[in-house]
Amino acid sequence: MASAGTTNQKRPIHSHFYILDSDPYFHSSETGKPFQDCISCGLSLRDDPNLPFLVAKSYRSDECIFEYAICEDCRANMAGEFSPESQQALAAFFTHRVKFEERTKLLSFGDLIEPWIQTCAACNIPRTEAQTHSLGGILLGDSIIYDPYPLCLCGDCEDEIQSLLSKKTLGIWDEFVQINFDSPPGHHRDLPTHRRPVLL
Ligand SMILES: [Zn+2]
Ligand SMILES: [Zn+2]
Repeated sequence: MASAGTTNQKRPIHSHFYILDSDPYFHSSETGKPFQDCISCGLSLRDDPNLPFLVAKSYRSDECIFEYAICEDCRANMAGEFSPESQQALAAFFTHRVKFEERTKLLSFGDLIEPWIQTCAACNIPRTEAQTHSLGGILLGDSIIYDPYPLCLCGDCEDEIQSLLSKKTLGIWDEFVQINFDSPPGHHRDLPTHRRPVLL
């Protein structure tokens, strides 16, 4: 008899999740709304409640100049195509440069995104002092999944990461940009990394 009432009780879905409705960081800057589709396969990011997706946004000072959302399946497929040397180099960069244990402590801020993206995750320069920077967040529906994302990387660190990647891997990035972004030649020179996004 009493069970009908209890079904309305709100239960936390996951302690590391945060309902994003009022937070614009990982919404599309173009539309002002949450991303709707995976840039690669076109899948609706709203349809599968179990499929996380990455939102990546690149900025020159506070102007967003490049953004996309990619579903976990496409992200994993693409990362799987990277050369073994590039995969190792990326792993080594993040292992040595990102202080993962320090980041985990940011969970104590509760639902705040800002502490996670205030400084470059690799060199610690404040985001506001970097000429260009990128933000990455992993989302599930309207919720953000914490630790180690969301994160910020400054343009210098993105350049450094690119310098570690093999020709084959850079080619995969170039293809991704060519296929998915419809823009006049030269436009991607405006990217922090000149041509390629770095977060994946
Ligand atoms: Zn996809
Ligand atoms: Zn940096």
